[in-house]
Amino acid sequence: MNTSLKTTSDTFCSLPWNHTFIGPGGVEKPCCRFLLNKVGPIEELRNAMLKGERHPGCRKCWEEEDAGRKRSLRQIHLQPRGFNEPLIEDLDVDNPKLVWLELSFSNRCNIRCRMCGPFYSTNWYKDWLAVEDYVQPNIPGVKDVAKFIKEHPEPVPYDMSNLDKHIPNIRHIKMTGGEPFIIPEYQEILEKIVENGTADKVSLNYSTNLTVMPKPRLLSLWSKFKKLEFATSFDATGKVMEYQRYPTKWPRVEQVLDRLINLPNAEPGIRGTVTIYNILDIPNVAWYWNDILPDNTWLNFVQASSPEQVSITVLPRWAKDIVAKRLAYSAPTQRIQDNFDQLVNYMYNEDNSHRLSQFIDFTQKLDKARGEDFKKVVPEFAGLW
Ligand code: SF4
Repeated sequence: MNTSLKTTSDTFCSLPWNHTFIGPGGVEKPCCRFLLNKVGPIEELRNAMLKGERHPGCRKCWEEEDAGRKRSLRQIHLQPRGFNEPLIEDLDVDNPKLVWLELSFSNRCNIRCRMCGPFYSTNWYKDWLAVEDYVQPNIPGVKDVAKFIKEHPEPVPYDMSNLDKHIPNIRHIKMTGGEPFIIPEYQEILEKIVENGTADKVSLNYSTNLTVMPKPRLLSLWSKFKKLEFATSFDATGKVMEYQRYPTKWPRVEQVLDRLINLPNAEPGIRGTVTIYNILDIPNVAWYWNDILPDNTWLNFVQASSPEQVSITVLPRWAKDIVAKRLAYSAPTQRIQDNFDQLVNYMYNEDNSHRLSQFIDFTQKLDKARGEDFKKVVPEFAGLW
């Protein structure tokens, strides 16, 4: 860490100095964790931190740190690794510069995963009414969602010229969606950085669903950047993937994955979401990945937090026992096995089986809307109803 940061206060966080998050509706926040209703002038937040105060907008970080269970985002970025290391070295509190961005303003997406919704996917507009009671669109400032969706079938564009003055300083961009490969604004900023001649100093991080083959222009732009990280939603194989992430086609996933892992400056990994639908397929994913990228350790499965009824904690005891048996000693490496063991512990430690009827209702309604059948995709759980 640079010398000036060593003398800052106990409540200091680097993000309000060198980073911004742009979320749905173009709302800007100091980071993804900052409470939206506490956003105010950035100087006010910086001054509070320099004085050693806990700003109320940072409540999530303070709660995590006080609980001591895991490192907060603040702590993660104060002990930087990877792309963030040189950025922290260069951080000057007297002359702050925006050097990294998280772009998350568009819900433009080509698929509609079972644990997603209209807030993150325009494709979900097609059948959210079938499960309206379970999937709240939560579009900021919108009361009549059906009317809004009818009037805005496409996402509202974001004016990227807002970022023009920062282009020469940008060193890292994280892009989520929606599906980032089809969000035009995300390509626009790459064009500007290439035009500025600084692409070789910039790393890119994409969260991608592996169903969109990148177009030649995007591939050409990428070749000029320092590094590409792909956090892939590779969390099931074959028909399970097609079911959880409808209307994904498995052969397309394999094609896109093959294209991405063979890019010279790419570092692909898995950021998978675990639900009742895919939990039994997780070992297949880990072995598939191990076969194609044996040295790649960037693989993490996290439990879906919403909608609550698809969580593996909803399963009754007999079904949890099937999961535990399937995941025991089933990973290709100890590190991945540790991840599996954490999932199993979490599953047993919480009992949300009172939501099972909601899971069944939600699943049946979506199956009907999509012409699918959960019992055929995951026959081991056919006894759930
Ligand atoms: S302390 Fe936490 S919430 Fe506040 S700006 Fe830093 S990372 Fe964001």
